[in-house]
Amino acid sequence: MTTTHRASALVPNRRGRSGDDPIFALHAEATRRRAAGERVVNATLGALLDEDGSLLVLPTAARAVREVGVDDHAAYAPIAGTPAFLDAVRRDVLGAAAGEAAAVATPGGSGALRHAIATFLEPGQSLLTGSWFWGPYRTLADENERGLVTFRLFTDELAFDVDALDEALGSVIGRQGRALLILNDPCHNPTGYSMSPAEWTAVADVVRKHAAAAPVAVVLDNAYSAYGPAAGMAAALDALRGLADIATVMVAWSASKTFTHYGLRVGALVVLEHDEGERREIQAALTHACRGTWSNVNRGGLVAITRLLVDPTLRAAVDAERAQAVALLGRRVAAFNDAAREVGLRWPRYDGGFFTTVFAADAQGAAARLRERGVYVVPLPGGLRLGICALSVAEVQPTVVALAESLTT
Ligand code: PLP
Repeated sequence: MTTTHRASALVPNRRGRSGDDPIFALHAEATRRRAAGERVVNATLGALLDEDGSLLVLPTAARAVREVGVDDHAAYAPIAGTPAFLDAVRRDVLGAAAGEAAAVATPGGSGALRHAIATFLEPGQSLLTGSWFWGPYRTLADENERGLVTFRLFTDELAFDVDALDEALGSVIGRQGRALLILNDPCHNPTGYSMSPAEWTAVADVVRKHAAAAPVAVVLDNAYSAYGPAAGMAAALDALRGLADIATVMVAWSASKTFTHYGLRVGALVVLEHDEGERREIQAALTHACRGTWSNVNRGGLVAITRLLVDPTLRAAVDAERAQAVALLGRRVAAFNDAAREVGLRWPRYDGGFFTTVFAADAQGAAARLRERGVYVVPLPGGLRLGICALSVAEVQPTVVALAESLTT
């Protein structure tokens, strides 16, 4: 057989990509070792597990998915999503102001973030987010030929660094004449931090100041908001809604964690816009973006999530089940805070949510030492992310002790 040399058909900016999501790769390794009989603690993946290590699935959400009719599973959804779903999500986010929002259904919050990046930034421009961020923000930006720049997320006292945001927003606008700011709150991934109402008010003031000079769009990534210490998205939305006269306020809404149905791939991008003409423009741009990417989201998923949002009986049941899950997670969070204090770790305020991050100068080295002991965490620049969501209450303390030892040996 002769081989002839030929140039790669892969275009240059798609070469050299890492096909492996680093977190999924670590999870796969942990799973392999466990299947081979080793004792492994796997705190890598962002799914809530029950105390016995099985996936914690809210029973009423599972029931709603099971009860979707064949026609709803089989048929296409409208490009932007079913009107009932869009209505339900707009109401979930904005209550009585639901009529003032454009919205499209997306495959999870990821799809919503994709649309925000591609619709509110020009190619080559960069989104702005905190210096600790969920890695796929960069992948989403990169895949859509946009960049990512950061502001220092925490002050030395581990509060939200509003001054750093102020400065970064000014310089992004100076460079590119517009800004797209993405903030994940409450229960920020990867740090676990939930911003206070006062911090949100300060952020809104900063955004208002800059929005007077150039178009500014703010995305609230609500992926973990149902697991927050207080009332979901309230602190963020109370501050952001008042900005809608001068800035574009959006929510990247996800059903993945809220309804423990990560694989259902249901989400939405909701854009608050008072001006009806502009709202129509945005709605059309987003609907076009759906057609041009994934066409439409699976109809069965939309129908199930709609019922969970609007049927009073189902909603009450799923809310009660979730409250139990949040309480379980709360016991793990408390166990972490106690143990971490005991061994002298350094981490941001953590009072709810799937993850926390322990600061570590040599995170890669520490994570490698932990892997040797069968403990899997996610090394990030400057810290180790610990998926408390995936540990039993009893696993938390020994994992924290192992983590502390990995930092000193
Ligand atoms: N935003 C953050 C910070 C996340 O951690 C995730 C999921 O892990 C998402 C958004 C989006 O999740 P999904 O696309 O499953 O809704």
